[in-house]
Amino acid sequence: MDQNSPEAVTAIQAAIKASAFCERIRTDLAGGESILKSDRSPVTIADYGSQAIICKLIRETFPNDTIVAEEDSKELRRPDRSKILEQVTTYVDAFIPTSSSKEVCSWIDISSNAVTDRFWALDPIDGTKGFLRGEQYAIALALIEEGVVKLGILACPHLYVDIADPFGQKGCLFVASRGKSSFQMNLHGGSQRPISVSKVENSSEATITESVEADHADHLTHRRLAERLNISKPSVRMDSQAKYGILARGEVTLYLRVPSPAEPGYKENIWDHAAGSIIAEEAGGKVTDVLGRPLDFSSGIKMVRNHGVLVTNEVLHDVVLRALER
Ligand code: AMP
Ligand code: MG
Repeated sequence: MDQNSPEAVTAIQAAIKASAFCERIRTDLAGGESILKSDRSPVTIADYGSQAIICKLIRETFPNDTIVAEEDSKELRRPDRSKILEQVTTYVDAFIPTSSSKEVCSWIDISSNAVTDRFWALDPIDGTKGFLRGEQYAIALALIEEGVVKLGILACPHLYVDIADPFGQKGCLFVASRGKSSFQMNLHGGSQRPISVSKVENSSEATITESVEADHADHLTHRRLAERLNISKPSVRMDSQAKYGILARGEVTLYLRVPSPAEPGYKENIWDHAAGSIIAEEAGGKVTDVLGRPLDFSSGIKMVRNHGVLVTNEVLHDVVLRALER
């Protein structure tokens, strides 16, 4: 399987369409401003619609494949949600003409919660808080066979293409196939370039990326670890799996996700890490949990055998693990 495999071509097209869809909603309903305080409906509409579009397009080409995604249409079908359903349908119809509400619900419900030998893991909008703040979010899609991620697609509609020009062009698509490297493209599928992780070996030169949300990761433990490793640069806080993208292209050195004290026993969802992990690995990175165990995508929706996430290059991985043990 590589970038030109039917799986990759279909997944890339689906992610590009879903990105355009989400951005349309964000700009229409939010006007580019933060909508966190006023109304959560734009993220709800985008979440459902993005899932409907991607599930439909994957099912069309791969009728026998399972898709494990975050949403189902149960709530959307409730009479008191009819306005939301109407809005979802109107927006989806602009991207997939003559879509009915019934069809949209049935596409959302292609998703199942049973992990099989071959399945797709989908997060239709990863980083909903970032989406609402007008910051980073991602559409994350991965193909998993026998528990191994074989293909990962990460669309980051709001991510700058080049750190050297942070206010310049936005919209990145990261793609990786197992054994075939990682690439960054634009959201039209063009300007493809190979990417690789940072080669920094001295931890004092490293930069950490972590969640914006304090409920999603233990910022204090991260800071203590940074001190232990003589890391002086401030952490890059970013929502969504865009963190895997900026690590894979060498912009930051270390993605830390020690479970937050707000929820110390939290188990990660497979769709929050499947796509990002292969993109980091194929760019030369090493991805484990904070105890050094490989991420387990075979046990169900929740990664019950893992605790947090640690991503960096091969050299620093050991150094960070040892520092975490202390
Ligand atoms: P991030 O944008 O990296 O902070 O991660 C966003 C993801 O965090 C969401 O998709 C949620 O599935 C996930 N999440 C929700 N609650 C928690 C939690 N308590 N700890 C870690 N991740 C969480
Ligand atoms: Mg998510």
